[in-house]
Amino acid sequence: MNDLKSRLIRYMDAGFPILYLHTFEEDKADKLIRSVASGRGILDWNIKGFFDHQDHISQPGQSLVETLNLLTSLNKSLDRKVLVLKDTYNFLDDPTIVALLKNIALRINQGLDECTIIIVSPMVKLPKDLENFMTILTIDHLSTEEIRQVIVSFCEEQKTTPLKEELREELTVAFKGLSEFEIRNILALALSENGEIAYADLKLIFEQKQQVIEKSGILEMIPLKESLEDVGGLENLKKWLHRKERVFKNIDKAEAYGVDVPKGVLIAGMPGCGKSLNAKAAAHLFRVPLLRLDMGRLMGKYVGESEENMRKAISLAEAISPCVLWIDELEKAFAGIGGDGGGADITTRLFGTFLTWLQEKKSLAFVVATANNIEKMPPELLRKGRFDEIFFVGLPNRKEREKIFEIHIKKRRKDDYSKIDIQALVAKTDGYSGADIEGVVKDSVEEAFYKEKSELTTEDILEAIKATHSLSEIMKDSLDKMSKMYKERKFKNASDM
Ligand code: ATP
Repeated sequence: MNDLKSRLIRYMDAGFPILYLHTFEEDKADKLIRSVASGRGILDWNIKGFFDHQDHISQPGQSLVETLNLLTSLNKSLDRKVLVLKDTYNFLDDPTIVALLKNIALRINQGLDECTIIIVSPMVKLPKDLENFMTILTIDHLSTEEIRQVIVSFCEEQKTTPLKEELREELTVAFKGLSEFEIRNILALALSENGEIAYADLKLIFEQKQQVIEKSGILEMIPLKESLEDVGGLENLKKWLHRKERVFKNIDKAEAYGVDVPKGVLIAGMPGCGKSLNAKAAAHLFRVPLLRLDMGRLMGKYVGESEENMRKAISLAEAISPCVLWIDELEKAFAGIGGDGGGADITTRLFGTFLTWLQEKKSLAFVVATANNIEKMPPELLRKGRFDEIFFVGLPNRKEREKIFEIHIKKRRKDDYSKIDIQALVAKTDGYSGADIEGVVKDSVEEAFYKEKSELTTEDILEAIKATHSLSEIMKDSLDKMSKMYKERKFKNASDM
């Protein structure tokens, strides 16, 4: 916060015309602005109207256009002022408003008015015409110490018995990534439901947190169901994840020993062969939340919006850390880097933001990036040092298929498993992906149910295999090409043979 305050003061002193304060917390923004105004009058516009706090003028209902028109028509009405604008998101599409803001920004740039416009908004929108005049600043998430303070002062205000240290610390970690306002709301809800704050409230926090993350529109919190036991084969990758687990769970000791903070892993390769499954299992193994970054949703319509979204996602993941940040279909996000045109420009900048973060990352936001095709991916991303390791996942071998059959049969028909001839199934499924095998088991179980059979047999599954076109049958050429490319690049094989 202090860092942000000093940046704000620097920018205001240097005459930056429009500062875009990106935050959900207007109260916090107001406090911050008051603390940096240093004698300048604060003018406030929000959906309720216009308010001049210095001269005690209040114009309820005055529109943004009226306000800006008035301020630009009166001589010196903006000199030595801070003009704070809220609720502007829908107005920044209006060409008249954009033109009026540009006019004020030009006056500030020319030194005619000593003024700063501060737009406070939970969403970033940079109209093209204002891009050069605007600087985005984000209010940081609460630190662990600040969260602890919020809990303590809430309990004092509500006169509840002070929380035991252990509970307080668990709540503190659980609240990471939430704003003061959200934390207080959840605490108040817990108190009103049970008359006290207890361990049972961690579930409530989790649910609320899930909502807050969903609301951010970019990250999704995935419930943890799958563990490494649900992954058949891929022993090298599993072993590697276990090693990282040790570091992750003992980070203080590991760092003191000289071990680097784990950055993350890129898992690339065949579709349906367990890449996503491993991302989920990694979060389960590390016992931390799993956040999925949706690259499609990240790409915004306004200049700077995608990068800002990326920054927002990163900062939310860091605030929630320790966590696993799963970036699905990485190749889609960074295809077209270095190309021509606006779209390519945005991807290149987005990529830069991501790469710098990955390079410098010190937080326990462990990245699991998954990708089918790395052919179009920029080489910088694949260079050693970006990710801790890059794994290639191929089609499962005999031993792995055995295990995958076992997992999926036991999941559905545990008692029938011992009577099934797994070797017969394995022999007939060369070139099948994990997802193909799962599909075969699912279909055969449904068919057996439909035929009202008392148990699932080897024949039922063999029938389903016959009726299935395996992955390698459908896309043989591209799989061969992919497999060759991974071998050439000498990526580590996720399997142990
Ligand atoms: P895509 O690139 O198409 O997203 P993916 O490699 O991420 O594919 P997953 O989503 O991990 O594929 O796999 C799809 C489903 O197939 C999984 O939910 C799982 O049930 C099954 N599966 C795939 N590989 C394995 C495996 N090695 N062990 C057990 N199940 C597997």
